[in-house]
Amino acid sequence: MARKVKADPSRQPFQYPLKRVFVEPDWKRLPGYKEVSQKDWESALWQRQHSVKNVKELKDALGSYLTDEIAEDLLRDQKERATMSILVPPQMLNTMNERDLQNDPVRRYMLPMFSDRHAEWPNHPQASRDSLHESEMWATEGLTHRYPTKVLAEMISTCPQYCGHCTRMDLVGNSVPQVQKHKFEHQPKERYEAMLDYLRKTPSVRDVVVSGGDVANVPIAQLEAFVSALMDIPNIKDIRLATKALQALPQHFLQDDVLKAFDRLAKKAWERGVDIAVHTHVNHANQVTPLVAKAVKKILEMGFRDVRNQGVLLRGVNSTAKDLLELCFSLLDFGKIMPYYFYQADMIPNSEHWRLSIAEAKQLQHDIMGYLPGFATPRVTVDVPYVGKRWVHQIADYDRVKGVSYWTKNYRTGIETDDEGALGKRYEYYDPVYTLPAEGQEYWRQQLPKTPAHA
Ligand code: SF4
Repeated sequence: MARKVKADPSRQPFQYPLKRVFVEPDWKRLPGYKEVSQKDWESALWQRQHSVKNVKELKDALGSYLTDEIAEDLLRDQKERATMSILVPPQMLNTMNERDLQNDPVRRYMLPMFSDRHAEWPNHPQASRDSLHESEMWATEGLTHRYPTKVLAEMISTCPQYCGHCTRMDLVGNSVPQVQKHKFEHQPKERYEAMLDYLRKTPSVRDVVVSGGDVANVPIAQLEAFVSALMDIPNIKDIRLATKALQALPQHFLQDDVLKAFDRLAKKAWERGVDIAVHTHVNHANQVTPLVAKAVKKILEMGFRDVRNQGVLLRGVNSTAKDLLELCFSLLDFGKIMPYYFYQADMIPNSEHWRLSIAEAKQLQHDIMGYLPGFATPRVTVDVPYVGKRWVHQIADYDRVKGVSYWTKNYRTGIETDDEGALGKRYEYYDPVYTLPAEGQEYWRQQLPKTPAHA
C-alpha cells in the first residue's frame, strides 16, 4: 500500500516547475527594432553593427521607454563612476524590461546608473584595478599562472559586450573618464606564440582557460589555430573557452565559419583525449532565451564535453535564493547549460553597490542546496586576492564588525615559488562597508583620507 507522502510544491520556499515561458522576447516591441526582420535579428553582423555604444543609441533603440531622468543618470555614471564603456548588443537589450528599466536586473549590471551606486560608499577603501593581481602573475603577457596545474590565457582585451562589473576593467574595453585602460604591449601573434611556448615547457600545467575579454572577438581562424596548437601539447588535457557572448550574442556561434571551426576542434579534442568545454557567464534567468539554447545545442552536438555557467553574484540582479534557483533551473531545463559557479563580485573600484558580504553569500549557498541535482548545484565562491577561488564556506576567520574575512591557501601562486611563508599566511577579503554595523562603518571612515564627505 502506498504511504501518504505529500510533495506539495506550494509548501516549499522555492517552487518548481518554473512559471516562466521560454520564448525569445519580441524585439519588435522596442521602437528602434520595430522594422527589424528575423533574418537581420539572427545575423551576428547585424547585431554587432547595431550594438548600443552610448546613451544616444540607447535612446534610438528604446525611444520613450528611456526617460530623460534615466538617460541623465546613465550619462552621469559614465562621466563620474563607470569603469567600463557602454556596449550592449540588441540581443541583450531585448532581455530587459523596457517598462521598468530602473529595476531591471540586466539593465542594472550592463547599464549602471549613478543613482544605483552607494552614495557614501561607492568604493571600498581596499578596492583596486586588477584586484586579483593577475598581471603580476603573468608567465608571458596575458598568461596568468596562479594555480599549480591551470592557467588563464587572455587572448584579447575586447568583448562584444561590456559588463559594468567587469573584473578585468583594468585591461578590458575602452578607456572611460575614470579609467585609462592598460594595453597589451605585444602583437597577438607574438603573445600567442609565447604562451604556447611556455606551456610546452611547463608539463605541470594540464588545463587552459582560453579567455579575454571574450573569445567571440578573436577572429575564428586565430582562435582555432591557438586551440588546435594547445591540443598538440601532450600535457594539456582540459581546454575551456570562455565567452559571455554565448548568451549576449548567440548569433556569433550560429555562423557557419564558427560552427565549422568548433566542429573541427571538437573532433580533434576527441581524437587526442582532450576535454574541451565552453564556459559562459549568465547572471539572470531572463537572459536564457531560445537563441542561446540553439547555440548551446549545436556546441553539445559537436561533442564539446559541456557548456557551463560562471555567474557573478550581484545585488539587485541575482542576490536572492529565488533569483539563483530560477536562473539555475532555466540554465538546466531550457539552456542545457550546467550551473557551475557563482562568484562574489571582485573588489574593483566603484563596485560596492553590487557586492555582497561573505555572510550573505554563505546564506545564499545554504538556501539553494537541495533543489538542484548535486552535479548542477553551483558553488558560491570568492576569488581572494593572491589566493584564488575559495568556496565561501572555507573561510578561516571572520571579523564581522570590520567586515574582514581571512583565508588560507594550499599551493603557491606563480609568484611565490621561493616564498617559504606563503602557505602559512592569512589573506584578507573585505565586505562592503555599508553592510557593517555602525562601529565597523566608523572604523572604515577613519581609514579614509580626510575629504569633506568624511571629515
Ligand atoms: S564579458 Fe567578461 S571580460 Fe567582457 S566585459 Fe563582461 S565580464 Fe568583462
